[in-house]
Amino acid sequence: MKTLRSVLVPSTHGLRGHDAVRSERVVRLMAPSFRISISAGLATERFGVGVASSRKKTRLVMAMQSGIEENAASSTSLPAAEVVATWRNAQAVCFDVDSTVCEDEGIDELAAFCGAGEAVAAWTARAMGGAVPFEDALAARLALFRPSAKTLANFLETRPPCLSKGIRELISKLQLTGRDVYLVSGGFRQMIAPVAAQLNIPSENVFANTLLFGDDGEFTGFDATEPTSRSGGKAQAIEQIKKEHGYQTLVMVGDGATDLEARRPGGADMFICYGGIVARPSVVAGADWFVTSFTDLIESLD
Ligand SMILES: [Mg+2]
Repeated sequence: MKTLRSVLVPSTHGLRGHDAVRSERVVRLMAPSFRISISAGLATERFGVGVASSRKKTRLVMAMQSGIEENAASSTSLPAAEVVATWRNAQAVCFDVDSTVCEDEGIDELAAFCGAGEAVAAWTARAMGGAVPFEDALAARLALFRPSAKTLANFLETRPPCLSKGIRELISKLQLTGRDVYLVSGGFRQMIAPVAAQLNIPSENVFANTLLFGDDGEFTGFDATEPTSRSGGKAQAIEQIKKEHGYQTLVMVGDGATDLEARRPGGADMFICYGGIVARPSVVAGADWFVTSFTDLIESLD
């Protein structure tokens, strides 16, 4: 990431590190190579600037960039030749769904639909700071709004999937060139099914969690036997996919720490961090390739 210009912003502007880190819905970094510095006393932190957006609002946000400079410098615009070669050789590509294939986070949207958006968001913010096992975080957030089958059906009817820009073209190109495409998500199958249908991804290529309902359609929990319902589950699912199909080269694309975890021996051979919605510094830093647009990946297949 090149420094085109540095600007000193007084701390009275209130744009502190924690606020910026909490603002994670970066839809598009307006100028990925633009950096500014925020000075607070003797400490100066570097931030990237972007636009945060959801279905409801758009606002300017700043994402902390410390620690990603070296990585991003080589990955944002010009990935190493071997990285591109691995991408081109991929026999299977696994995509995260929330904030990658889709612009939003499914559980947040469903919670908001049920009137518990703020409570769930507050819980998520608290959980992010501690070592809360994924399954506990999932159970705690669902307990805040306990969606019924009817509520879920209403949600799906009124809120069609919001696909990220360029994802349809990318997945179509991967499929047309003989690569297998998977969706691997900590979200729910019932909400991902319409996404998979729009992208022509067969249901057997979807790894996700399942909401459970009782005879009267009341919420009873989630299927704890799904690997993606547990911490480390995505990596486990990726290993299962690779082993079962004997893929030589498998690439994971996502925005989160659990997506990055999937890049390990026996799992994903490469991790591409998609930062078009969210750019988490620690995830960007661990990526083989950081992109803010799927167009880069489409063009690199040629
Ligand atoms: Mg995600």
